[in-house]
Amino acid sequence: MLVRRILESRNYRVVEAVNGLEGIAKAIEIQPDIILMDINLPDLDGFSVVTRIRSEAALASTPIIAVTARNVEDDAERAKAIGCDSYLSKPFGVADLLEQVETHLAKPRQTEDVSRTEQYLREHSASLVGELELKFNELSTAHEELSVMHERLQRLDEAKTDFINVAAHELRTPLTMVHAYTDMLRAHPKLSGDETIGEMMSGLRKGVDRLNDIIQDMVSIVRVELSTMELAYSPMPLRLLMQSVVKSITPSLQKRNQTITVNIPDSLPMVVGDDKKLLQLFSRLIGNAIKYTPDFGKIVVTAGCFEEKTQQTEDQFVQVAVSDTGIGIDKKDQGLIFEKFYTAEDASLHSTGKTQFRGGGPGLGLTIAKGIIEAHGGRIWVESDGYDPENNPGSVFYVLLPAYDSRE
Ligand code: ADP
Repeated sequence: MLVRRILESRNYRVVEAVNGLEGIAKAIEIQPDIILMDINLPDLDGFSVVTRIRSEAALASTPIIAVTARNVEDDAERAKAIGCDSYLSKPFGVADLLEQVETHLAKPRQTEDVSRTEQYLREHSASLVGELELKFNELSTAHEELSVMHERLQRLDEAKTDFINVAAHELRTPLTMVHAYTDMLRAHPKLSGDETIGEMMSGLRKGVDRLNDIIQDMVSIVRVELSTMELAYSPMPLRLLMQSVVKSITPSLQKRNQTITVNIPDSLPMVVGDDKKLLQLFSRLIGNAIKYTPDFGKIVVTAGCFEEKTQQTEDQFVQVAVSDTGIGIDKKDQGLIFEKFYTAEDASLHSTGKTQFRGGGPGLGLTIAKGIIEAHGGRIWVESDGYDPENNPGSVFYVLLPAYDSRE
């Protein structure tokens, strides 16, 4: 800006380029009377740009002044060798700049006598920079295309979230009515004695509950996406939390003849978090372990404590591992299963049941689990040797949660 102001105050017309590629293009296009070339540029460096500019016959004698913030001893010499006429090192005075510009404008550049070898080398350097320029141009076009695609994908993703949000709210109201009428029918004196009607009513109620769960997942996913999940923090012992989880999933375990073992050391510090959300999180992880493990499988929950030290902080975490003896997860899917709607299993195995072996759901569970953990300032990841429904290598889901510091 300073250079522009100084030069414009002397009635020079100044055209700027923000990087080397633009510099080359503009120099060729407008054929300036003099070029001020910054050496530190974001793409090609100034020396390469000068090499390229000098290879254009129309610019072969345009004066070029190299401008640099570096104070490298041989930069001035290098600038000359490459084809600059002089060298200004920042910070420079107004008088210095004007003097150099005026001198070089007044005295056109002399073509030097160079040896044949040197001439070949210059041509070779110019052609190398020409190739680089092409590659940079291709890269920057690809980068622009990627940015456009990225923006489009982001907009599509937002549209998807908006749709889920609206659909959840639209479905919720009629479902509340169905729920209320089902309860009223169940309690109706004319119907309550009839066994067949009673069975139908409980089937209806089960369906309503399942629909409610799905709508609740849709609402949760929107909260995760918009980062509006509200948490009520309190310290709690993990052992107690796990007892509640195990109690709620026992019927599913029995249905599938599976066992669960929970190993939590007495010395484990309490975790800090929202008990309802954490209950939901571990129920989901164990629920998945049940779903993706064959009958008679084993699920093990272990926990430990460790410290993470950085230069400024020393944080204590509780690490919980939920392992199963199931079908495992392919390495390429291990990062993706936490994305919404992503399912690693064949979609034709989809099941609305909660416990059926390999009966995948809509692919929202782990996205919600990750959202819950991240809202707590924790992390979640999975380890598995791979997907193999024949040999069942199993999977381990790890969860890190901030530990309660009793000194706080
Ligand atoms: P879904 O509703 O399909 O179960 P999730 O988000 O809970 O969705 O899980 C995403 C996918 O991750 C599942 O479809 C399944 O392919 C895979 N997955 C999750 N947990 C396990 C597990 N314990 N073992 C094997 N695969 C799993």
